[in-house]
Amino acid sequence: MEVVRDGVTISLVRGDITLEKTDAIVNAANSRLAGGGGVDGAIHSAGGPMIMEECRKIKGCPTGSAVITTGGSLATRYVIHAVGPVYRDGRHGEDGLLAGAYRASLDLAVKKGLTSIAFPSISTGAYGYPIDRAATIALSTVAEFIGATRGLSLVRFVLFSDSDLRVYEQALKRI
Ligand code: ADP
Repeated sequence: MEVVRDGVTISLVRGDITLEKTDAIVNAANSRLAGGGGVDGAIHSAGGPMIMEECRKIKGCPTGSAVITTGGSLATRYVIHAVGPVYRDGRHGEDGLLAGAYRASLDLAVKKGLTSIAFPSISTGAYGYPIDRAATIALSTVAEFIGATRGLSLVRFVLFSDSDLRVYEQALKRI
């Protein structure tokens, strides 16, 4: 599914984000930037050791924010490591932190002069965020950002399952 908002294409696809050729791909990282399972493990194993070398120098990233490194041997030029919240009960500032992780990633991309960026569904794997709620926050944060900031031409969400893709499609129709 694809829509154009404020001159920016928002694209939803099912796939493996490590194969994306956008200027940057976003990693669902942890605050120690220590690597892990899920999309984080897939990015480090496909992108090679240069990404972790840069992560070690950066020494962590607060929840709700993001940092940028090389894309190593990936097709993308940069990996943006965004740290989403662990979901507890939705009453511990999770929504604001999740929106912050998306906003910080978009900010870094624009500051670097990048025009295309691909996101996974941050926090909805090991971090336990309900996918419906996360999809609405992800897409409304992107919509708000591109309404206010010039520079991007493509924002893509790469969902790992058909059911996740359907949830994002429904959320995009509502936004
Ligand atoms: P978090 O710890 O932020 O929840 P996870 O990596 O556990 O991050 O999960 C985030 C989402 O990324 C999940 O929906 C998971 O299915 C998905 N995912 C895992 N591997 C990939 C991949 N290679 N490409 C895209 N999405 C992926």
